[in-house]
Amino acid sequence: MIQMRLRVATYVLVGCSLSCARPGAGVPKPAAVPVYAEPHHHLEYESKFVRVLDVVIRPGDTTRFHIHADRHAGVLIAGARTWGQIVGGGALAVAASSIGSISDNSSDALPLTHRVANIDTVDFHLVLGQFLAASGIDAPTIAPDRTMQLDRETARSRVYRVTLAPGQSTGSHRHAQPGLTIQVTAGTVTWDGDAVAARSVGSRAGAWWWREAGHTHVLRNTGQLPIRLVEIDWK
Ligand SMILES: [Zn+2]
Repeated sequence: MIQMRLRVATYVLVGCSLSCARPGAGVPKPAAVPVYAEPHHHLEYESKFVRVLDVVIRPGDTTRFHIHADRHAGVLIAGARTWGQIVGGGALAVAASSIGSISDNSSDALPLTHRVANIDTVDFHLVLGQFLAASGIDAPTIAPDRTMQLDRETARSRVYRVTLAPGQSTGSHRHAQPGLTIQVTAGTVTWDGDAVAARSVGSRAGAWWWREAGHTHVLRNTGQLPIRLVEIDWK
């Protein structure tokens, strides 16, 4: 812990020696890029509804300053201790995050420009969907069962958590709204039901599937490990 605090302090000092204002010196604002153009935020899919971003920050890496102009929701695939800095602000907050944490900027003032550094010894990995358009589809919440429950509802989305033991399946359920399913933990999930519009490769921690409106499916854990997923529907 002491070592970690020293490392954080080092980052603060190094950051200050490089960029803090000196009397009389004109300090230009660092250039910021849209979040989907930031090199640690990999744009994996884009449609009129969504940009899917696979975010990986390796130990010791710092993102460029980047701009969040859109609402998003997603889930943490691998947690790490990070700090963040709002552009023009000196405050650095160290945060520890855990696998499965929902990332949801529904209460942030946008646009938000910041950068994030991984001060841990393990990867930080997050999969996000940006809300580019509303579906406009009015639908009730999907009825909860033993495997699937609503985690939260925001102005733009409903976020469900799915937990499947080896061999277990969800009930057959219909997503009236389009949306993104993200696999949080390792394992093998098979889908029975409608074809998806887009997906990443394989079934693994961080895999994702984009569903069009009116998609019906059963999610089945056909592997040996308990699996967690998150399903986000576009209101
Ligand atoms: Zn589903």
